[in-house]
Amino acid sequence: MFQPIIRVSDGSVSHYEALIRMQGDGDRIYLPDEFIPLAERTGLIRRIDFWVVDKAIDMLASLPREHPVSLSINLSSGGLQDPSIISLVRRKLDMTFVSPSRITFEITETAAVSSFSKTREMVARLRALGCSFALDDFGTGFSSFNYIKNFPVDYLKIDGTFIVNLIDDPTDQVLVKSMIDVGHTLGKKVIAEYVESPGVLDLLRRFGVDYVQGYHLGRPGLSPTSDTPTMTASLAGLAAPLETMIGGLRPRLEASG
Ligand code: C2E
Ligand code: CA
Ligand code: CA
Repeated sequence: MFQPIIRVSDGSVSHYEALIRMQGDGDRIYLPDEFIPLAERTGLIRRIDFWVVDKAIDMLASLPREHPVSLSINLSSGGLQDPSIISLVRRKLDMTFVSPSRITFEITETAAVSSFSKTREMVARLRALGCSFALDDFGTGFSSFNYIKNFPVDYLKIDGTFIVNLIDDPTDQVLVKSMIDVGHTLGKKVIAEYVESPGVLDLLRRFGVDYVQGYHLGRPGLSPTSDTPTMTASLAGLAAPLETMIGGLRPRLEASG
């Protein structure tokens, strides 16, 4: 699925976030929360991340020139720890002539913190190719501010939990304002996700946020624009083992209440 990320300054689409769904046997569609944690525990996540990168760059290459769409791609810590992601990105960009400026990788604070120096190096190498980086779920870690001081990302993405109740929660307002200020002071663009109402958008505009994303601006859809292709492809043998594992989990989850 693809969800638009909108520039607050003029309401135009900056880029789209790619959000994976998995089709199991039959028509059952699994949301990422149902299979990504499992894939992380079993190591399958690297193959998923590589698959997403591969297909996302193919999709960018397949778009007509009059649609210079850019994409944000979520990378797990597992995917980012594997140096072959760099050769994959380089090879795909060379093969397809897609400009690296059309790709932003989103990594989470927790993922990055787990191996700070290695992650930093991988991020620097992918940025050297011309790709951008966003720090996702910003504000949920324990030392967010200290941490971004030394981390080479282009965007901070304020976690949606600070945004959903922004109108009614004065604490969230103070925190969001300070995250925006810190981001700007460090030279980063700031994105707010989970923008679900015009009131929240107004408040964020007053706070000076650069980009917004959420159901109020656009829900995830099957393709970025009406005249671009939908991106469905086989998870290359990964769906079946994952679905079996999910099936194996279910009775245990039910048994534990
Ligand atoms: P995320 O990266 O923080 O993505 C934002 C999630 O919020 C998405 O859920 C999106 O559909 C949802 N969302 C968007 N707007 C709103 C809104 O206004 N209100 C609310 N309540 N939710 C909104 P989704 O698609 O279920 O993805 C969940 C998580 O799964 C993502 O969180 C990301 O961490 C992970 N994920 C998704 N796609 C991929 C992928 O291709 N690779 C990897 N490694 N992880 C992925
Ligand atoms: Ca994300
Ligand atoms: Ca997020």
